[in-house]
Amino acid sequence: MSELSTTLIHHPYKPPTGFDAVQPAVHKASTIIFPSVAALRSRDWKHKTGYTYGLHGTPTTFTLEERIATLEGGKFCTLVPSGLAAVVVVDMALLKSGDEVLIPDNAYGPNKAFAQAELAAWGIGCQFYDAMDPADLASKLNARTRLVWLEAPGSITLEFPDIPALVAVVKAHNAMPDRSHPQGSMTALDNTWGAGLAFNAFALGVDISVQALTKYPSGGADVLMGSVVTNSEALHLQVHFCHMRTGFGISGNDAELVLRGLNSMALRYAAQDLATRQLATWLQGQPQIAAVLHPALPESPGHAEWKRDCSGAACLFSAIFEPGITPLQIDRFCDSLRLFKLGYSWAGPMSLCVPYDMPALRTVRPWPHKGGLMRFSVGLEAPSDLQADIAQALACL
Ligand SMILES: *Cc1c(COP(=O)(O)O)cnc(C)c1O
Repeated sequence: MSELSTTLIHHPYKPPTGFDAVQPAVHKASTIIFPSVAALRSRDWKHKTGYTYGLHGTPTTFTLEERIATLEGGKFCTLVPSGLAAVVVVDMALLKSGDEVLIPDNAYGPNKAFAQAELAAWGIGCQFYDAMDPADLASKLNARTRLVWLEAPGSITLEFPDIPALVAVVKAHNAMPDRSHPQGSMTALDNTWGAGLAFNAFALGVDISVQALTKYPSGGADVLMGSVVTNSEALHLQVHFCHMRTGFGISGNDAELVLRGLNSMALRYAAQDLATRQLATWLQGQPQIAAVLHPALPESPGHAEWKRDCSGAACLFSAIFEPGITPLQIDRFCDSLRLFKLGYSWAGPMSLCVPYDMPALRTVRPWPHKGGLMRFSVGLEAPSDLQADIAQALACL
């Protein structure tokens, strides 16, 4: 090894021993070197007993997987490059041509869009159901149903479903071999809102819990990542093999940011919960507002189920304006906000809001409200400043 170009690559560096830092080291790799042909042939990436290739995991991603599984009260975790990719990898791992997936009508929109476009093109059917009506789910389960998505609460409208009742409907259906899918139907929960903190998905009976780590675990509004957690090794391997075959790898630097975010996540969740409830309760009393949707408010759909199953709530609420307030006025309200910025996502440091056209998003039952809807996500600013911001924008209506 005489050439500098060679020595620079084959340098004798070893990580310092005795360097016990609080944060885990960031390991980055595509290639991982094997000491011998025998080691190359015998090393097993499937059960995480060794390292084979960057896509199959590094010490940093294994550490993050362990912590996310712990957070969710599950055993196995697969990391993917976004929350949406977590939904997609579950769909791809479980569904074959001829199968059907059931999705709540109030689910995260891109989950429905993936089913309507890609899954449909692959010969996989989909139906939307009313998550607040277990009888509606029961009536839509059939011999083709292989996967039932759950989401608590609904994206945008925040109705909190009866998860144990929906799971019981699926289990009862699975117990009828003549009317159920030969492999049974699995339940997968989009647990981004609960984040593993508000409730334990597995204690409520779901098979798979998916999260957009983009939201609370990151907390920084600067990372995209998703996770798929299970308690069953067979189910985990099914997801994991699909993940390997699709090449949905994550970067070591992104894993580092989520590992850092996890440290403060419970504190952020609690602080944002408190601020969100204060603002939601105050906004309810404003004359321009017909209703505020937040599961901790007694008037909000699914309040009883939220109270029974949850110890907290995320930083989201939606406001429905009085019917007399025109869409143009609501646009002016949005544009008048100074601290609440217009933008997607939530659970980062900055408060955000987005107006939604609800009637166009509902397919199972018509949207019951006449006034326009805006979803607010509360960041880490002082709640008094956020309240003053909404108050001055309401005055511009
Ligand atoms: C944001 C979000 C996702 C998708 O996460 P990305 O990382 O943005 O792809 C999925 N589900 C819910 C409920 C979300 O809020």
